[in-house]
Amino acid sequence: MWSIRAWQRNRILARNPVTPELWQQVLDSLPILDGLSEDELNRLRERAVLFLHEKRLTPLAGVELQPQDRLRLALQAQLPLLHLAELGWYRGFHEIVIYPDDFLSPQKHRDAAGVEHEWDAEHSGEAWLQGPVILAWPGVQESGGWEAYNLVIHELAHKLDMLNGDANGLPPLHRQMRIDTWASAMQSAYDQLDRMLDANPDAETPIDPYAAENPAEFFAVTSEYFFSAPDVLHQVFPEVYAQLAEFYRQDPLARLQRLQAEHPAYREPA
Ligand SMILES: [Zn+2]
Repeated sequence: MWSIRAWQRNRILARNPVTPELWQQVLDSLPILDGLSEDELNRLRERAVLFLHEKRLTPLAGVELQPQDRLRLALQAQLPLLHLAELGWYRGFHEIVIYPDDFLSPQKHRDAAGVEHEWDAEHSGEAWLQGPVILAWPGVQESGGWEAYNLVIHELAHKLDMLNGDANGLPPLHRQMRIDTWASAMQSAYDQLDRMLDANPDAETPIDPYAAENPAEFFAVTSEYFFSAPDVLHQVFPEVYAQLAEFYRQDPLARLQRLQAEHPAYREPA
């Protein structure tokens, strides 16, 4: 069947070819894509090209984006959506702004006594409701490995969360998922982390304590772990892992374990 959408899509792909050299170079720099099938990689590459066509990447002074940097960023942005239908999951924004370094961002909080506190917090990323995604360049460069850190996936998880309103840790779930199952898995893990930090603010938490900041950060941080340290997340919070696997329709842990069984370099955790 002829469709204008498919025609446009094919035209964009034809006009923005990815050379085999560039493709290999970028793949080599993204261990979190290791073990994906040929089919999955092809789909990911196409969606990354379409993403770069659709969104504006704006580097601020001090950042120069090479073609490999743009493709690297887009592939990580698209990894969470790889097994979801193309439904415009990132429709809530048009621009990604890249800051040369971490930045100060004004914060406001009204405490229980009604006193308003204002301070500047250092951030490496931000996602505004109805606004752009902001990423700090060092964090983008550090993303891409199995190291329990991925700034791109973290900030874009906030955008998924915001598809149904404020960021609150509840993205729009698929029809066959249950909100109460999601909520109880997330809440009990969140409470566990919270109790640990209440008892000792300097506790060695099994995942980044920033996840205990609020439910939105919990979803963003656990999404980050889901794709970049699925073994850690699955071990600590198996029910959170299971919910994220249903939401993203992927099983990065199985992929990582396959890699670990097949390749000596994967046997030792980083
Ligand atoms: Zn965040």
